[in-house]
Amino acid sequence: MGSNLFDHDECDYLFKTILVGDSAVGKSNLLSRFSKDEFHLDSKPTIGVEFAYRNMKIGDKIVKAQVWDTAGQERFRAITSSYYRGALGAMLVYDITRRGTFENLRKWLHELREYGSRDMVIILVGNKSDLIDSREVDTEDGQSLAQLEDLCFMETSAKENLNVEDAFLQMITKIFEIASQKSL
Ligand code: GDP
Repeated sequence: MGSNLFDHDECDYLFKTILVGDSAVGKSNLLSRFSKDEFHLDSKPTIGVEFAYRNMKIGDKIVKAQVWDTAGQERFRAITSSYYRGALGAMLVYDITRRGTFENLRKWLHELREYGSRDMVIILVGNKSDLIDSREVDTEDGQSLAQLEDLCFMETSAKENLNVEDAFLQMITKIFEIASQKSL
């Protein structure tokens, strides 16, 4: 087994993954949708890192996905390197209704590449796809950036539960493939 894989009670693999992106793009709600199938209308003002687990079956293996949320730390540009440490995957989130959150992706990518592991799987996620009338970022813009930076890409709605499961599954499956190759 590679050094990034840990034995854990009822699972074959445990993967740390992180959420990054500007405030209020929907990171906490993507996580609560994925881990508890819940959506919250108000932002939680809680400051500090939070994480949740969910087991997923990939092939005949049980993978425990541990997903960390910044829980508001990004507001103060106070994300520490420990947040990134050991993360095998990152969900880089912007809000399709706020162009600025898309433009800030360069800054987040820079951070991910500076503090994250070299073969970290990054999935670019344009959230709030349900807000069609307020769209400021075209799907093609997300696709082009993903292609340029060699990232996976998906548009989601945490509110309507669109593509949330698929986005996490895509990230975890890719990590699984890399991890399985390493442990061969
Ligand atoms: P975070 O700061 O990135 O963790 O963002 P939150 O998850 O706290 O969400 C910020 C706000 O956007 C909240 O008011 C959420 O209810 C709302 N929100 C999150 N995801 C969606 C979505 O997919 N669609 C819509 N319409 N609103 C969303």
